[in-house]
Amino acid sequence: MGKTYQDDRVNDTKTRDTVVKMMSERGVELSEIAEITFDLQKKYIKELTFETCLEHVERVVMKREVQNAILTGLELDIFAERGDMDEPLKSMLLNDYGLYGIDEVLALAIVNVYGSIGFTNFGYVDKLKPGVIKKLDDEGKKEGVCHTFLDDIVGAIAAAAASSIAHRYG
Ligand code: MG
Repeated sequence: MGKTYQDDRVNDTKTRDTVVKMMSERGVELSEIAEITFDLQKKYIKELTFETCLEHVERVVMKREVQNAILTGLELDIFAERGDMDEPLKSMLLNDYGLYGIDEVLALAIVNVYGSIGFTNFGYVDKLKPGVIKKLDDEGKKEGVCHTFLDDIVGAIAAAAASSIAHRYG
C-alpha cells in the first residue's frame, strides 16, 4: 500500500524536529531567524509581532523542500569541517570561496516555494547580513569552521517567512 497524506505529515514533523535540532547544534535557533524576518517586515506591517514571525518561520521549516535543503547544506558544512571531503571541494567550502555559488543556489530552493517576493527578500538579506547571519559569517572565517551553506540557508528561511507573511497580509 502506498503512503498516505497523513504518513507524509508525520514524517514532515519528524524531519522538522531533526532539522531544528541540527540547526541548533550548528548555532542557530528559529527565534534568531524570526528576528530577521521581523526586521524585514515590520516597516510594511504595523501590527506585526515577533510571535507571528516565529509562527511563519515554523511553517517554513515544515515544508519538505526546505527540510531537504537544510539536511543537504548542513551535512556538507559538517563534512567539510571534519575534512571528510576531497579537493577541490573541501577548500572551497572551508574558505567559503566566493565563486563557488552553490550555497546560494541551494538556498534558492527554499525561497522558491514562496515566489518572486522570496527572491527579492533573499537578495536583500544576502547583501545586508543582519543579526545571526553576520555572526555565522564571522565565525565561519575561523580555522576549521564551515558555515558556507548555513548562512545562506538561514537567510533563505528568514526571507521565505517574510514572504509568507507578505502573502498573508498583502
Ligand atoms: Mg554562503
